[in-house]
Amino acid sequence: MQYNIAVIKGDGIGPEIIPEAMNVLNAIGKKFNHTFNLTEVLMGGSAIDKTGEPLPGETIDICLNSHSVLMGAIGGPKWDTLPGHLRPEAGLLGLRSEMGLYANNRPATLFQSLRNACPLRQDIADKGIDMVIVRELTGGIYFGERGRDDTSAFDTEKYSIAEIKRIAKVAFETAMVRRKNVISIDKANVLESSRLWREVVHEVAKDYPEVEVSDMLVDNAAMQLVKNPSQFDVILANNMFGDILSDEAAMITGSIGMLASASLGNTKCGLYEPIHGSAPDIAGQDKANPIATLLSASMMLKYSFGLEKESIAIENAVNSVLEKGVRTADIKDDSTSKVVGTREMGEMIIREIQNGY
Ligand code: NAD
Repeated sequence: MQYNIAVIKGDGIGPEIIPEAMNVLNAIGKKFNHTFNLTEVLMGGSAIDKTGEPLPGETIDICLNSHSVLMGAIGGPKWDTLPGHLRPEAGLLGLRSEMGLYANNRPATLFQSLRNACPLRQDIADKGIDMVIVRELTGGIYFGERGRDDTSAFDTEKYSIAEIKRIAKVAFETAMVRRKNVISIDKANVLESSRLWREVVHEVAKDYPEVEVSDMLVDNAAMQLVKNPSQFDVILANNMFGDILSDEAAMITGSIGMLASASLGNTKCGLYEPIHGSAPDIAGQDKANPIATLLSASMMLKYSFGLEKESIAIENAVNSVLEKGVRTADIKDDSTSKVVGTREMGEMIIREIQNGY
């Protein structure tokens, strides 16, 4: 099977971490007999430098005509003084909107070899952390009516049945390729919008009888994430609750250089990227951890292409290299046997893939 992937290297460490992901995809293609056609396109600061705009029309066309999009990171101090609509971030927001991406899937996984990086008590970390937060991206209080007068201000949390339905479906589809459990977050004891959220989620759940579903109030969820994170498989949340809880979940797993994400819409074509930024402070020094980007590619294989064993092959190879004590500088700890740069980390993971994972 042939898969067309648009690749955005972006800025800062992007041009260092993305080639490692391209090499990993090629290694997976070779091992499992797939062809990944990787087409590089410009977005962000590098696009501004070459074309004068953060999201050239050609990039939009190629992304929309690909099976999926893989991105490094964009932005940096060089472009910080530009007006908002010409900044690198405008490219990313524009692309999300062009691709109709309304769901953000952010896994929070604690690799057992990195459990020292977990700020939680050891006995809690030892039970494992492996969850995905499915966050609604384009509705709710961040986009609702707002206003201000001399003495007050307001923001509106509003969700339509259609908006809740489509994000709930993403959560249940995600659960189907995982441990088949969805915990839906709301504040239904207080908010009408949450009561509608809860009703619609349970309606959608009827189409997924294999998936266990339950509700959790957001305040309790914030507590449970630090008390007993191993209970979570898929967390479904609105825009604001998802924003807050996904940062909490990221924090309990340790390094920012390890966490991947997927933005999804109505089609299988998603945008996959590490959650970190372009890290200008370490750019060009072969210091960046490429693992978040490799795991983003792994998510793409699973969610966009349905290539489960190929996706797991990347996760296993990452795990195996970490188990050997090999670390990039950002995840160095007491159990580290060797500190490597971006390229060597990528090469070692590829060797693990070739050697049978
Ligand atoms: P950042 O995530 O780039 O960096 C924060 C810290 O984490 C830095 O010390 C950095 O060196 C480190 N870090 C990040 N990724 C790492 C990796 N893979 N390996 C090792 N260390 C890593 O956040 P920031 O410094 O706030 O932002 C820098 C630029 O990135 C800004 O221009 C910002 O707008 C942009 N940004 C882009 C995205 C995106 O492209 N989606 C997301 C966030 C920030």
